[in-house]
Amino acid sequence: MVMPITILKEIGHQLDEDIFPRIKNGGIVTPGESATCSPSWAEENNDERQGKSRHPTRPWPGPIRGQRQTDRPRTSGAASSSVSAELQAQYEGELTAISEAYPGAKVWHQTEGLWLITESILLPGIWQRAVFLTGIPFDRSRIVRSWGFWMGMPLKYPEWIGPRHTNMPDGSICGFEPTDGTWKLGDNLLVLLDLYTLWALRHLHLQIFKRWPGRQVAHFVHERLTELKSTEHCGCGSNNIYSDCCRDKDLRSDRVLEAVKFISAGGAMRFPPNAVMNFINIQDNPPKIDELLPMVQLI
Ligand SMILES: [Zn+2]
Repeated sequence: MVMPITILKEIGHQLDEDIFPRIKNGGIVTPGESATCSPSWAEENNDERQGKSRHPTRPWPGPIRGQRQTDRPRTSGAASSSVSAELQAQYEGELTAISEAYPGAKVWHQTEGLWLITESILLPGIWQRAVFLTGIPFDRSRIVRSWGFWMGMPLKYPEWIGPRHTNMPDGSICGFEPTDGTWKLGDNLLVLLDLYTLWALRHLHLQIFKRWPGRQVAHFVHERLTELKSTEHCGCGSNNIYSDCCRDKDLRSDRVLEAVKFISAGGAMRFPPNAVMNFINIQDNPPKIDELLPMVQLI
């Protein structure tokens, strides 16, 4: 039996090499295929996955940089704030697959969209599980939002996962760059939930090893200076380590000005809105989806 910490370390090394792990049912994360993992771990998982589902593991789509897909043509450009029956049918149709991949998933149906609560085990043997509260709009003018929380024995209530790699100021998950085509409204929800699972796994790595594994994006100089360890990948998105990339430039910048920029963008106070905290604590009485999911910013 390989210790979960060893597996986490292995996945971290893989992420540093751009090798993505596999996500299994229950949101269990295992090292990617090109890894050399011990036979006992591999066998154990093979036993575990037998006959549970037709899709016990899913190949990782990976960040699809530079392959941005063109948006589907809109049926009506004017009706930008209306519910799309097509999106609604698609996402309601995906719920069965979601409850198979994430057992215990809870769903709340609203006219404007769905609220989902799903749980990811991450690594069996580690106390933290991640719980995600995800709002999926049926309206293409709104943006999907999800908040991540730790759950597990010592915690009485879900504990927000952040502030790193969360959106400003609402503290929702920033699991990928919205502009790089990794996921967009209309894509498969399971892929999105897997992206969130990986995001939480990376947070677990940060918590245990004090280092964010793999490539990352941190747009603000202040954010890079205060949050990034020198051995992490640079926040400019390059494949270089921060200390070999933008750190010297960041250190020479006007630090006060950069801090002001970050704070005025809401970076210092990232936290979920009260409505989200209430909902995740009682897991009942969801807020209205269109009050919490922001509109797409048309540039
Ligand atoms: Zn850089």
